[in-house]
Amino acid sequence: MRNQIIAALGAASIVAMAGLIAPSQAAVHHYAAVDAKRLRTADSSANAGQWMTYGRDYSEQRYSPLTQINVDNASRLGLAWYADLSERGGSYETTPIEVDGEIFVTAPWSKVYAFDAKTGKRLWKYDPQVAGSFAVKLCCGIVNRGVAVWKGKVIWGTLDGRLIAVSAKTGKKIWEIQATDPTKWLSITGAPRIADGRIFIGEAGSEFEERGYLAAYDVNTGKELWRWWSVPGDPEKGFEQPELAWAAKTWSGEWWKFGGGGTPWDGIIYDPVTGDVYFGTGNGAPWPAAIRSPGGGTNLFTASVVAVDAKTGKFKWYYQETPEDSFDYDSTAPLMTADLVINGVKRHVVMHAPKNGIFYVLDARTGKFISGKPFVPSVNWMLGFQKDGTPILNPEANYGKTGKGFYLIGFQSHVWNPMSFNPNTGLVYLPANYGSFPYVAEAGAKMGNQLLSINIRKRPQGPAPKLEGPSSYLLAWDPVKQKAAWLQTEGNGHAGTMTTAGNLVFQGTTSLGLSAYRADTGARVWTTDVQAEIAGGPISYEVDGVQYVAAVAAGQGRRFGRGGYWAPNYARVLVFKLGGNAVLPKPQPFTPPVLNPPPEFGSAALLTSGEHQYDAHCASCHGNNGHASTLFPDLRYAGEIWSAPAFNAIVIGGALQNDGMVSFRKVITANDAEAIRAYVVHMANEEKKHPERQFGGFGGPPGPGGAPGRGGPSGPGGPGAASPPQPALHQ
Ligand code: CA
Repeated sequence: MRNQIIAALGAASIVAMAGLIAPSQAAVHHYAAVDAKRLRTADSSANAGQWMTYGRDYSEQRYSPLTQINVDNASRLGLAWYADLSERGGSYETTPIEVDGEIFVTAPWSKVYAFDAKTGKRLWKYDPQVAGSFAVKLCCGIVNRGVAVWKGKVIWGTLDGRLIAVSAKTGKKIWEIQATDPTKWLSITGAPRIADGRIFIGEAGSEFEERGYLAAYDVNTGKELWRWWSVPGDPEKGFEQPELAWAAKTWSGEWWKFGGGGTPWDGIIYDPVTGDVYFGTGNGAPWPAAIRSPGGGTNLFTASVVAVDAKTGKFKWYYQETPEDSFDYDSTAPLMTADLVINGVKRHVVMHAPKNGIFYVLDARTGKFISGKPFVPSVNWMLGFQKDGTPILNPEANYGKTGKGFYLIGFQSHVWNPMSFNPNTGLVYLPANYGSFPYVAEAGAKMGNQLLSINIRKRPQGPAPKLEGPSSYLLAWDPVKQKAAWLQTEGNGHAGTMTTAGNLVFQGTTSLGLSAYRADTGARVWTTDVQAEIAGGPISYEVDGVQYVAAVAAGQGRRFGRGGYWAPNYARVLVFKLGGNAVLPKPQPFTPPVLNPPPEFGSAALLTSGEHQYDAHCASCHGNNGHASTLFPDLRYAGEIWSAPAFNAIVIGGALQNDGMVSFRKVITANDAEAIRAYVVHMANEEKKHPERQFGGFGGPPGPGGAPGRGGPSGPGGPGAASPPQPALHQ
């Protein structure tokens, strides 16, 4: 595109192109020169080569109009450059942002890198110095999904709830504000969006019984401009917004003591057609509706899509996707707008496919329900829709009320990994999971550090459901017909997608690769080994007439052993072009560890104390069973459990502080540490004695077949595997 424009300038420029004079690169570089005009004309020839915001443009369709790479030549894609990323402790969920030859990616611990998008040269790196101790206040990993850029600034949120703006040119801080109450367990992992000088961002924390809100901030100063609360607070204190008065009528009991939840932690879009911001709210908290709101009620505005005026934050409309949510049914999956012809009429719509397994098409101007259909083979939380689009709930699913527990079908069907829409095929490319999860209510029960009021060690009455079909796949969905166009099991439900005018869909694979498929049929046209999983959304951009595809490897290596022990990480920015010939270094040799715990020791009282201390301080990262997820070491395999001094040096002495494992000396004693060691040794011996149990991350009897692994980038258990429920990364 750029070369075409230069050629149009005339003969003098053509001489420059021939190399006699330095070509257009000599022009003044406008760093991160994104504004409303560019975002509104993202598909024009001047901007087609940019990826200017999280979902590429305001519609967030993740559709690139570039065609240099297409179905006919994608087999010639090769690595143009790569850059290693050094942060550990979390998965890389970032979508890179590319503007005018610069690319910005976020890393665990809310760090940001800037690279030259053509060469891979690192331009700067910013570390906001998030305290390692903040990891205990997170439900779902030390993660970040991306930055926003606006008129020379790069802006993002941090795990500890700050918003930071730095110069895109130098990486030097311009301003920083605290967007959350630092005494609360609220974190920012989503990417901010910006329109007309206003930054929009929410936060995560429903699992800690907090109260969610979306807020707007001034892009020049960080000053808060407005705040919209997702759920009503204590009525005696008055309501911050008029709509909270009637929302409060959908709650009962003293819900405000639980916070209520509703944290909008991911999907946010600005719609220039209406001037509104649409966003998805989180689940109700604690999870069973009957515990947080014992007299019933739909609990507005949890598990909803909400529209507010971008300038004022004034409420416009809502659509509650899951009334009386009891299933962690965040409505926070990425949203997108599109113009679809439905029944012969062009409609401006919001498309959404949240955790509850339903694909929704809503009128963007009014929030009116247009259509909704399950995008997984079945769901059992609802029985259908009323005429106005209100879901008809399955009374059996209200496990907090029935007291019998419930095997939910439609579990984490689509969490945060971005979907894409190709206007040429009319299809949405959706990472989909088909699974179930056992819910048993118990007031006050925790899962690790999360205050969920479900007991994950108990199982519902009756047999677990048997699910037919793959548990994780790439789905092409026709939003007008509300039905699947094709399904590709080489793709998966834990990696974001991107589609292009070259009739291509890109997605990371479960076999540690990146693949391209035909957008119209799903046939695979290219794949490459990247030595690690990819969880976030790939992007495409153009610099100096060359189209690139970029993705960030999540930093999770090949899985070994039944317990899911993972090889060393390869977190990288990977950039591909036609004929690229860069080569990744060979993977490091890796020998899977052997489970070899010392003999059990300590009294029953010590073990009980160890279990309590472990649940309070360790389980949030390491899981109820020593190994929560692939992101943290499996303590049962750790050599340090053989030695009290070695264990103490880490837990109390902070020997692994630089790796994100902080000292716990402020909250536990050396005796507590020894009790924890005894408990971990006990868990390791149990694991060794009962290898048939298939415990996986969290304790309990075997789970139902076909459950997707977790909300993170890579569930253990591929298609059809009988994997245990692993709720480590619910978010
Ligand atoms: Ca949640």
